[in-house]
Amino acid sequence: MKAISVGEGYGRVNLIGEHLDYNGGCVLPLQIKNSIICELSENPEIECISIVSDKYHKKLSIEKLEKRGDWADFIIGSCLFFGKKYSIVIKKLSFNIRSHLPLGIGLSSSAAITISTLKALGNYYKKDMSDDELINLAYDIENNFVGVGGGIMDQFVSVLGNQNQALFLNTLNRSYELIDIFEDYNFLIIDSNTERILSNSEFNQKKELCLSASKKMNLNNLCEKEIISKEDIEILSDEEFKVCKHVVEENIRVKKAVQFLKDDNPDEFGKLMTESHLSLSKYYGVSTNELNKLVSLSNSFGALGSKLTGAGFGGAVVTLVKNDKVEELKKLILENYNKAKFV
Ligand code: ADP
Ligand code: MG
Repeated sequence: MKAISVGEGYGRVNLIGEHLDYNGGCVLPLQIKNSIICELSENPEIECISIVSDKYHKKLSIEKLEKRGDWADFIIGSCLFFGKKYSIVIKKLSFNIRSHLPLGIGLSSSAAITISTLKALGNYYKKDMSDDELINLAYDIENNFVGVGGGIMDQFVSVLGNQNQALFLNTLNRSYELIDIFEDYNFLIIDSNTERILSNSEFNQKKELCLSASKKMNLNNLCEKEIISKEDIEILSDEEFKVCKHVVEENIRVKKAVQFLKDDNPDEFGKLMTESHLSLSKYYGVSTNELNKLVSLSNSFGALGSKLTGAGFGGAVVTLVKNDKVEELKKLILENYNKAKFV
């Protein structure tokens, strides 16, 4: 069937500012070239919708737009929420998903698939959604239909970012700035190629800790804090203290990193990336042995700094390396960690 409308959604790598977008903090993601494409075609032979994805190889016939509990929810949710917004009954459409973005490794394929579908729908029904509307709708679908997801970062950078500028975003008031990345350096993404062990419950557990720590300290969100005082430490549980320490210090690191990016200082920027990783590992508790190994291998083979990217619990690391050292680094990584894949 011939596609009559196409939408594309990009992935991202978060350079620093991990687990801050649901704590009212600042983040620094960079859009990447890898994207998901949604092709939409009319199909008079079906009642509702059908979906196929090159990552799953099974055509799904959806009889009713309701939650199924699998990957199709991103498309079903897009149809439902888009339909509701514009009072359209969506039917007799086929969706073909083609992806160049590895899924579930922390590069935000979930936001990319939702945005590609919404864009395809917008084109087809001739609805000119503003960037803000698109971001909000995609966020709403991921959080309130699919039922996972953090803050607004992934949708934001997929829509408003680009591949040459990092997006410095204040997730609390949504102010943002695009900043040129280092000229002769690469943010190389290395997939640890291990099954991600992030479950909703583990992710939600971290969110709960942030929430309970905020409540105890009378804050709307943790990033309002700049320093954790002695009194704070007394009222927080050990677990709450640890997540709080990561969040508060990470937010400060992001602001410093932005300055180093503007000052064209990759050495100091890299150091902050590694500090971020150590904090994610030691205090936030979301790293794995494989991610730690990739970080230390990269750093010992000439990278300026490295960290896990995305929520953690497996997935990928991002490492800052000079362009002319990339190939050598890849070779050395593979010699010491043969499962690694470069995105
Ligand atoms: P991330 O956003 O970091 O890639 P998530 O766990 O948030 O990880 O989202 C991954 C989920 O998004 C997959 O499990 C799947 O449900 C959906 N998804 C992503 N890409 C595709 C694709 N190409 N085809 C079908 N579903 C996809
Ligand atoms: Mg995601």
